[in-house]
Amino acid sequence: MAEQGQAHVVVIGGGVIGASSAYFLRKAGYRVTLIEKNTLGSQCSHGNCGLICPSDALPLASPGAVMSTLKTLFKRNNPLYIKPRFSPRLWLWLLKFALRCNQRHMLQSAEARMPLLESSLHLYQSLIEKEQIECEWQKNGLLYVYKDRVALDTYQATDDFLTKHFSLPATRFDGCALVELEPAIADDLAGGWYYQDDAHLRPDRLMSEWKRVLEKYDVDIREGTEVYHFKRKGIKARGVLTRDGVVEADKFVLAVGAISPQWEKEIGADIPIQPGKGYSLTYAKPQYSPQIPMIFPQHRVAMTPMQSGYRLGSTMEFSGYDTTINRRRIELLKKGAEPYLREPYGEHVEEEWYGWRPMVYHGIPIVDTSPRMDNVLVATGHNMLGLSMGPATGKLVSELISGEPPHLPAEPYQLLR
Ligand SMILES: Cc1cc2nc3c(=O)[nH]c(=O)nc-3n(C[C@H](O)[C@H](O)[C@H](O)COP(=O)(O)OP(=O)(O)OC[C@H]3O[C@@H](n4cnc5c(N)ncnc54)[C@H](O)[C@@H]3O)c2cc1C
Repeated sequence: MAEQGQAHVVVIGGGVIGASSAYFLRKAGYRVTLIEKNTLGSQCSHGNCGLICPSDALPLASPGAVMSTLKTLFKRNNPLYIKPRFSPRLWLWLLKFALRCNQRHMLQSAEARMPLLESSLHLYQSLIEKEQIECEWQKNGLLYVYKDRVALDTYQATDDFLTKHFSLPATRFDGCALVELEPAIADDLAGGWYYQDDAHLRPDRLMSEWKRVLEKYDVDIREGTEVYHFKRKGIKARGVLTRDGVVEADKFVLAVGAISPQWEKEIGADIPIQPGKGYSLTYAKPQYSPQIPMIFPQHRVAMTPMQSGYRLGSTMEFSGYDTTINRRRIELLKKGAEPYLREPYGEHVEEEWYGWRPMVYHGIPIVDTSPRMDNVLVATGHNMLGLSMGPATGKLVSELISGEPPHLPAEPYQLLR
């Protein structure tokens, strides 16, 4: 471990972004304290779908997204739900999102997301080997499966786009060929597109392994400890106030996910995040469990076959920081998977879960210094891909804090745009 004169860094937030940051900072020679309000990995990083998927580099804001959303918004079974309410902040977010639904901005966002995705995929592979991380890592690829031929054919444009700009072609499998590739799939589907280099893991296992590894390297993990405020002196933070008093440090990382906008005043910048609520259902492994994870874009549901279980997840709900579980939306996950699989779900639900994705309208994560405190770095806004971008974000955080040349260009991730 290189020494940084044992300068002390406090990381606020123990999700996948905070844990990855703490790891790379410790490896760079800092003394690190990780402060988590709940338990490490208990929020959005807990029950997500576990897909590590560079193939999903295109942001939600894409040409046609507004029209297709408007067409289905008021349908009862729409996976996207916007709770009608007076919220200028939400409506401004939606307006800015709509203004980015064009080819130019889609490419700009994808170009910013891809380096984090590709670098993370490589970093996961080396970290898992080096640190003996047992998180049910499997490199079985990812299938985008379509029920209808028109929808299957429409994906050709996305495949062309990803091939042209990112040299990321998918392989198309029609009808029977798809069943040959993945026998657990229903035999009356149009087909699918397969990305063989994507991977998946079990997120809760990953997070408990992160805890073990961080403890092994003497990171001071303080769970059940909420950070209330920064203590400032001029343009520097000198500590953070917690219920146990002030924790002083030389540098700070704010990695609090969807809750980030609560820190806007202290940070001195807009953090344009809306909580994008999603659900998951975890089952024991069904008898006909697939090997390859799948996304069903027509129903917007994802299925992840983990070694120790089976998960259905997705839906996108903009209903603020709402903590209830909506039964109708949970049912949508099951209904959404039914047309695609021989055994779409198990008998016994092991866990029903929701999480708030930190959704920025442009889909580009934020990794940047606070304009108000030059020793505070903000790392958030990973939307639907925080797990897929965790390691590279953590490495970038460490590089920016150390002043080392970053392993990927940091400009796209600025706070003020
Ligand atoms: C249904 C669903 C499926 C998903 N599937 C995938 C997928 O397949 N692949 C993928 O890449 N991504 C997926 N995601 C997205 C991914 O889960 C998120 O992008 C990621 O977990 C965000 O990580 P984070 O560390 O920023 O936030 P979090 O995991 O929410 O961590 C933030 C932490 O900060 C803590 N905190 C907040 N305030 C304070 C405070 N004041 N003091 C101390 N601690 C504080 C919180 O308790 C929390 O633990 C999915 C999300 C959902 C909802």
